[in-house]
Amino acid sequence: MSKEHLLIIGPPGSGKGTQAVRVASELGIVHLSTGDILREAVKNGTELGAKARGYMEKGALVPDELMLGLIGDELDRLGDSGWILDGFPRTMPQAEALDGMLDERRERIDRVILVDLDFEVIVKRITSRRVCPVCGAVYNLETLKPKVDGKCDKCGADLVIRPDDREETVRHRLDVYKEQTEPVIDFYRKKGNLVAVNGEGKIEEITAEIIRALK
Ligand code: AMP
Repeated sequence: MSKEHLLIIGPPGSGKGTQAVRVASELGIVHLSTGDILREAVKNGTELGAKARGYMEKGALVPDELMLGLIGDELDRLGDSGWILDGFPRTMPQAEALDGMLDERRERIDRVILVDLDFEVIVKRITSRRVCPVCGAVYNLETLKPKVDGKCDKCGADLVIRPDDREETVRHRLDVYKEQTEPVIDFYRKKGNLVAVNGEGKIEEITAEIIRALK
């Protein structure tokens, strides 16, 4: 198992989640998505889920203090394995707090992957997204169609639109990204450990480009 510590950042709909899973499996590291953890918490009706739900449905960010608690617990659980964090940090206070937590553990971020994509391409992409409410599989009516219209390939359930994938919500999420997350990208760019890839193109080619850029 590799011990590498990576971050993957990109606007919602850039494909960062898909790439994070593929890069994790390619490098033999753990994939940790804060969006997935929060959606699971909402689905299971946990206390965290109840606190996060309203923000998520509006396309707003969940408050930093909740996110920091969650990430602290996850870092403890992961121990000394390698990981790729997908969806965290998304604000400057989160980025600074993450640095502090890693310093305490005598760990550091090796590389930050930016998956970049034009906002108008994103709006089209996200509003074409469909998810399986049962097994969590993700489809796209433009690029990754289910075999049978409206049905999950893996479990046959009816596919749905995530509440935060509606157009007005998507535009709001992009505004939030510009305001809160773009400064985080500059922060890592200045540290010199940012690698940027274009999120447009075939899924496999983008993964290959990321792996090449990391070497
Ligand atoms: P994602 O799947 O990464 O797009 O995350 C879905 C939603 O979860 C976001 O729109 C936020 O509401 C919430 N979320 C995920 N990660 C974070 C984070 N690091 N900080 C605040 N909110 C987050």
